[in-house]
Amino acid sequence: MASRRVLIATGAHSAGLAKRLAGLHVPLDTERGYHLMLPHEAGRLPFAVTSFERRFIMTPLAGGLRLAGTVEFAGLERPPNHERAWQLLRLSQGLFEKDLNAQGATPWMGFRPSLPDSLPVIDQACAGRVLLAFGHQHLGLTQAAVTAELVGALAAGKPAPAAFRADRFQPGAA
Ligand SMILES: Cc1cc2nc3c(=O)[nH]c(=O)nc-3n(C[C@H](O)[C@H](O)[C@H](O)COP(=O)(O)OP(=O)(O)OC[C@H]3O[C@@H](n4cnc5c(N)ncnc54)[C@H](O)[C@@H]3O)c2cc1C
Repeated sequence: MASRRVLIATGAHSAGLAKRLAGLHVPLDTERGYHLMLPHEAGRLPFAVTSFERRFIMTPLAGGLRLAGTVEFAGLERPPNHERAWQLLRLSQGLFEKDLNAQGATPWMGFRPSLPDSLPVIDQACAGRVLLAFGHQHLGLTQAAVTAELVGALAAGKPAPAAFRADRFQPGAA
């Protein structure tokens, strides 16, 4: 089916599509991150706690306690190194009187889509036929609603905020 307009919002996979569909070169990379979900520890903490010294976060969720963190530069193709997720459990040791229960723990890896200035691309190309919304690095969930508002404004013909333009990395761009 042919489409008159498309939105590229495919996270860390967006650079290739932006190149193919709109001829744009965007220096997007991925900061791969890991978490370890501990299903028996949902009630251990009343709120999220960050260990400043050990640089990881423990977040209580309905399905358990999520230990998250780490940045790995290894591209989109390389298989996950789940040893990094298990390392988060070792980081938690000694922080509690009774160490966390890792029974049934599951590791996960995700692709944070990141640009050199840590800001997203929210823009349009090809006379508005291609809309772009990607590159939210560590904050894509937090910034989802405001991104949706900005994409709606773009679709209605409003200009992109200068800080988020796709061509800001081109030589000579202000
Ligand atoms: C360990 C970890 C913890 C994080 N914690 C937080 C947090 O607490 N708060 C926060 O705000 N952010 C957090 N983030 C960052 C957040 O996950 C990302 O910023 C966010 O997921 C980016 O959203 P996105 O929709 O742009 O990309 P994604 O969530 O990566 O979604 C892109 C989607 O596009 C799909 N796709 C790719 N190619 C194609 C294609 N050709 N056709 C169709 N679909 C395609 C993919 O399968 C994927 O489903 C965390 C990330 C990690 C790794």
